[in-house]
Amino acid sequence: MVKYVFVTGGVLSSVGKGVVTSSIGKMLQARGYKVTVIKIDPYVNVDAGTMNPYMHGEVYVTDDGGETDLDLGGYERFLDLNLKKENNITTGMVYKEVIEKERRGDFLGRCVQIVPHVTDEIKNRIRSVAERSNVDVALTEIGGTVGDIEGLPFLEAIRQMRLEEGYENTLYVHVALVPILDVTKEMKTKPLQHSVNELRRIGIQPDIIVARCRKMIDSEALRKIALFGTISEDAVFCSYNVQSIYQVPLILDEQGMGEFVCKRLGFSEREPDFSELKNFVDAALNPEHEVRIALVGKYAGLVDSYISMNEALRHAGAACRTKVSIHYIEAEKFEQNPKEAEVLKEFDGVFVPYGFGPRGTEGKITAIKFAREKDIPFLGICYGFQLAVIEFARNVCGLKEANSTEINPKSPHPVIDLMPEQRGIEYKGATMRLGAHKIIIKPDTVAYTLYKSEAIYERHRHRFEVNLDYSERLEKNGLTFSGRSPDGRRMEILEQPDHFFFFASQFHGEFKSRPGNPDPEYYGFVKACLDRKLGKSKPEF
Ligand code: GLN
Repeated sequence: MVKYVFVTGGVLSSVGKGVVTSSIGKMLQARGYKVTVIKIDPYVNVDAGTMNPYMHGEVYVTDDGGETDLDLGGYERFLDLNLKKENNITTGMVYKEVIEKERRGDFLGRCVQIVPHVTDEIKNRIRSVAERSNVDVALTEIGGTVGDIEGLPFLEAIRQMRLEEGYENTLYVHVALVPILDVTKEMKTKPLQHSVNELRRIGIQPDIIVARCRKMIDSEALRKIALFGTISEDAVFCSYNVQSIYQVPLILDEQGMGEFVCKRLGFSEREPDFSELKNFVDAALNPEHEVRIALVGKYAGLVDSYISMNEALRHAGAACRTKVSIHYIEAEKFEQNPKEAEVLKEFDGVFVPYGFGPRGTEGKITAIKFAREKDIPFLGICYGFQLAVIEFARNVCGLKEANSTEINPKSPHPVIDLMPEQRGIEYKGATMRLGAHKIIIKPDTVAYTLYKSEAIYERHRHRFEVNLDYSERLEKNGLTFSGRSPDGRRMEILEQPDHFFFFASQFHGEFKSRPGNPDPEYYGFVKACLDRKLGKSKPEF
């Protein structure tokens, strides 16, 4: 029988609920229990795929092609899970289903209401993920903040689950901010008290409160939180600022949270094993080297737009005891004055991430040209891959006006073009080439050295690809397509054999990177940056 842990948040969003949810999962895993995680997003979009990363952060892609909230990436990395589309539930999804049922006549003439029809749909979805995942505990994080109008049906659904699943099979965890006032240095628990009251008004009494605070809460704050939250002091924990998010499970477990959760769910006491996590944290916090990477992007103003990429670079860094300092550069800067690209000389590597639309592309192409000509290690992901093809076509193959039809539909040399199956698609939601697809790796290439395999599966999210009419010409001029789809018609990886490290992929390696098990292309890039900095003649993988 599956047990359910529900995590709600108070006072502010972005308070670290996702990290606390993952940390509870980690504390359970460290004791040998199997877990899955569900993220509830109360927005009306059916999925995150149609949202601008600049406003909402990155769209995370699952193996089965789900375009999900970036929190799913956090869970996958923390807990080394491969989640599915269904692990992300949105208001849009729930209402779409209920309305379709109503149109089919499934409700037999009844008046369709939020309670019970919408709440039943929510509960069914949570249960079906939990049961199909074959786990001991299903953790569900409710996005947003308690008190938001759009979160209410979800809170009502989890309230009902206590009645239906039983006290010992359900646990409510509330995470809320405890600010420290600059002037008096006092920890203020009143906002947290109000958010607990708001939760109670809906009928949920938290079993555990996690105070999110800059520092470990003092005994006075602890006493107040327990008193006004109506829970014992040993059910109050503090998630304070640490250098790496991967330390959070360790600091919460030290406070006794893992033991408390297990006891409360009726699990027998087991000694936790955090050795792998501790090894990673140790490597991440005690680097012996440093590399500086220029991330030339278009969403550089919001760090969350590139969260999986940042994480993948850090995982790769930890694997070679190297601190990876990422410097965000707005690609458009190089468009006004291409000389600005000279700043790239000061970096150990140039990284061009994913992207959509024309803005900033010429600047990115300038950066790629600079990295290629000056032998600076380069990694391009998705759009970064496509722009590297364009740069090569223009400046090496002499196709001056080469472009992607996404940027210039009238280009005489559309080296990147819409995939044939994308023509005629009008709906924007879930219509890209998505999720894990097989890739065949060419022997005796950098790709083969890094992946050590003839076939890999990697996650995708794109509409455009290398135009087959040009692939041969590009290869004749010195570009190697070292990874292709099994039918050989889709270019998936490119590299330049005579460059120190020039590598790009149509797929997104970052989605499969894990702490302690970095993704090969990111590892290759960071190691190449380090080896070049150390003066080696070629990278040593
Ligand atoms: N805009 C490009 C495409 O749709 C690249 C997408 C991406 O970088 N994820 O093919």
